[in-house]
Amino acid sequence: MQIYNSLTRKKEEFVPRETGKVSMYTCGPTVYHYAHIGNLRSYIMEDILEKYMRFTGLDVKRVMNITDVGHLTSDGDTGDDKMLKGAKREHKTVMEIAKYYTDAFFADCTKLNIKTPDAVVPATSYIDEFIRVISALMEKGYAYEAGGNIYFDTSKLEKYYVFNDFTEEDLAVGVREGVEEDGNKRNKADFVLWFTKSKFDSQELKWESPWGTGYPGWHIECSCISMKNLGEYLDIHCGGIDNAFPHHTNEIAQSEAYLGHEWCNYWFHVHHLNTNSGKMSKSSGEFLTVSLLEEKGYNPLIYRFFCLQSHYRKNLVFSWENLDNAKTTFEKLISKIIPLLSGTDEQLDKNEYDRLMNGFREALDNDLNTSLAITAVYDVLKSSANNFTKRELIGEFDKVLGLDLIETAKKLAETPAVEIPAEILELAEQRNNARKEKNFALADEIRNKISSLGYEIKETRQGTEIIKK
Ligand code: AMP
Ligand code: ZN
Repeated sequence: MQIYNSLTRKKEEFVPRETGKVSMYTCGPTVYHYAHIGNLRSYIMEDILEKYMRFTGLDVKRVMNITDVGHLTSDGDTGDDKMLKGAKREHKTVMEIAKYYTDAFFADCTKLNIKTPDAVVPATSYIDEFIRVISALMEKGYAYEAGGNIYFDTSKLEKYYVFNDFTEEDLAVGVREGVEEDGNKRNKADFVLWFTKSKFDSQELKWESPWGTGYPGWHIECSCISMKNLGEYLDIHCGGIDNAFPHHTNEIAQSEAYLGHEWCNYWFHVHHLNTNSGKMSKSSGEFLTVSLLEEKGYNPLIYRFFCLQSHYRKNLVFSWENLDNAKTTFEKLISKIIPLLSGTDEQLDKNEYDRLMNGFREALDNDLNTSLAITAVYDVLKSSANNFTKRELIGEFDKVLGLDLIETAKKLAETPAVEIPAEILELAEQRNNARKEKNFALADEIRNKISSLGYEIKETRQGTEIIKK
């Protein structure tokens, strides 16, 4: 499989260190709010990567952290602690917020058919481990104490900016443009490993350490959780592109300083989901969630399908119109699968099976080209293979695509066709239009009218359904 490696900035053959086995690490969510569908784009594409690796026979062990402490509102070392901000917003404790949004995150993942990683580790459960590694960095001379905090000394590295061409001067421009300068740092790029002098007196979660009571920096969390669970060599590390700097850059700095050798061979970065007004972000407070998609009548798997239609290394623009197009395409695809459900006593057409399977694998072998993998599903539908062969192929492809293609087609085929009167269909259409225009009051009014005429509108995973009461 060829995969683009952000570290070398080229497509490379993916070769795990140990034949047949892959260690994979994923930066998990900061659980101070719901995951927005931009975050979930990253997790969908990482899920496809993991599932495709498993599909090709690799034994993948995947680990994810849950950031429940230490992530400040700037990805550097300034700003509020995001968790504390969330707790204040909701008048709850940090741990209550963490539990609530961790559960919400995995509920969303389930709806999007995103597999839970083999190990999920909340940062707050690893404090001893962070202290152990920071102590080792101090002993090795890679970390120093200043103003009560422990910093990583980036000047001790031969090359710090591994992903891009930033220089200290570039960073200084950033500082002038408003990022608060921390006078304790010896070098502009240095970053905090352990805070004791927090600007936030109300910081709820604090732990004893050799340097005083405090809490860990965000970057050290991922290095320690990865090394502890996956060992001192990591095959592939995943995350959204915004994490490349400073988060992943800092992870590499501290992990390699600690280990004394290179750490991770491949870096997989998913580009952003944007809206017309820019990157979707949690901190802006304006973001779309899976629940909102459901409230508007979209099966979450339509969003997964929408993501798969474009390449993970391109920015993807979200709009309701784009999502509607994906919905229409998805529904048409399902309707083409329904006729394949018959024909049970057929034999597998081995030649066609191999040919079409190769097409699917070629698409994903080429830097995870998911839109071509979907084209491979259409190639199956168009082929001369018998229904059984087609069904087998689509079932196999769906182990990676995760779109419930066969199940959805079966469910739709089993739904008894009830003749819905034209008047009701017309009202349902009017209601859909009202919803599109966000006139929810009118939509509800039409729904009540439909109900008084003996029919019920139901939002299901397959879309809007009309049933006779
Ligand atoms: P966070 O919960 O903020 O720590 O982010 C979780 C994951 O979502 C990280 O891998 C981010 O890089 C990624 N991410 C954040 N915003 C977006 C976006 N608009 N599109 C895609 N991925 C994103
Ligand atoms: Zn991370």
